[in-house]
Amino acid sequence: MDGLLYEKKNGFEGISDEERTEIFDFCAEYSNAITTAKTEREFSDLAISLLDKAGFVELGSKSSLKPGDRVYSVNRGKGVAAFVIGTDSIENGTNIVGAHIDSPRLDLKPNPLFEDGGMAYFKTHYYGGIRKYQWLNIPLSLHGVVVKRDGTQISVSIGEDKDDPIFCISDLLPHLAQRQSEKKVGAAFEAEKLNVIVGNIPCDDTEKNKLKYGVMKLLNEKYGICEADFITSELELVPAFQAKDLGLDRSMIAAYGHDDRVCAYTALRAVIETKKPAKTAVCLLVDKEEIGSEGNTGMQSRYFENTLAKVCSLCKESYNDLILRECLSNSACLSADVGAAYDANYAEVYEKNNSCFVNEGLLLTKYTGARGKSGASDANAEFVAKICGILDKAGVIWQTGELGRTDIGGGGTIACYVANLDIEVLDAGVPLLGMHSPYEVAGKFDIYMAYKGYKAFMNN
Ligand code: MN
Ligand code: MN
Repeated sequence: MDGLLYEKKNGFEGISDEERTEIFDFCAEYSNAITTAKTEREFSDLAISLLDKAGFVELGSKSSLKPGDRVYSVNRGKGVAAFVIGTDSIENGTNIVGAHIDSPRLDLKPNPLFEDGGMAYFKTHYYGGIRKYQWLNIPLSLHGVVVKRDGTQISVSIGEDKDDPIFCISDLLPHLAQRQSEKKVGAAFEAEKLNVIVGNIPCDDTEKNKLKYGVMKLLNEKYGICEADFITSELELVPAFQAKDLGLDRSMIAAYGHDDRVCAYTALRAVIETKKPAKTAVCLLVDKEEIGSEGNTGMQSRYFENTLAKVCSLCKESYNDLILRECLSNSACLSADVGAAYDANYAEVYEKNNSCFVNEGLLLTKYTGARGKSGASDANAEFVAKICGILDKAGVIWQTGELGRTDIGGGGTIACYVANLDIEVLDAGVPLLGMHSPYEVAGKFDIYMAYKGYKAFMNN
């Protein structure tokens, strides 16, 4: 009997040349995007420029909203909410695809510059869940902003142009690593040793701290900053790698920051290509997911609720708080985030029947969390069924998967914070190999299915 058993396969199997070309072309655009936008601020700027080009305008510039209107709001330069107003009344809810645009990285400490042992360094503070050893002896680039006390902002980007220098953290040579090798991995690599090399030519303008002075002098010449300006800056070290096709068949992409810009980019393209949906379509790009969705740019902030209140008030001639409350209660959300793809090299941490696989389609994760589903937003079966129906109807290939074997670890997404707003939510994203590493792997078929799936959801 057809359909009696749940079966899935590699999405490239039996695919037409035409569809494969469409997938590869879309993924080439994605690769370019994440090579140029490596931080939450850069991705926010990229989103704004794509939205501007697609006829979206700032929410603040509108005095009323009608079906088909396209608006966006920017959260402190680190997040964006884009809306396409639907034909249905706003209190009947919205369809939200929410992704995060921050990724694990190394931040500079507020007072980062020092010299020791004849070398100038920046001290770093890691951001998000990293395996520290993966960040040693790889090329790093420096991105971010320095804010002067008069409010002027200086953008910094060093290490991406082919003629730029890069930075790196030295690893211990194997010849002298005997004692380190006997330690557990967690203890062998210390956070306070993540000091990045920044210079080695002494400056003769000063008697002491000649290396430190030399680095500061170069930064002053290029950016007009002094050492105390680091205190009012946000500077991030990220891998200087470009996104590249992976494999002889080019079926995958290796890149820094697929988590979660692969979902952010596909969600953004989906909202841009949504014209006049029934329900208002929302692409919500948030910051700080990697450290627990904290802060006013994270999903736990009131920002989204406040922004939605503004949208509701502009959609209605007379507005009261109940309209926002009804709108939230009737809204639905795909929490667009990545999952852990089955990895044959580490089969022991997966449960095969409930794992997702690279290039087998958009990943639906009913619950995340750890142990006995602790910290999970366990999506309601009714809502999972509704989403599966929408995806099937649109020809979107999807798969289901848990985050590894039970009791082996765990993780979360923004889903639980969205659910707290009384919104139906299901995790739907792209499976990755090497998640949170400096060079993560995603399948092109899955990336394309995410884009297609988000678009189908926004337009259902
Ligand atoms: Mn994520
Ligand atoms: Mn993550």
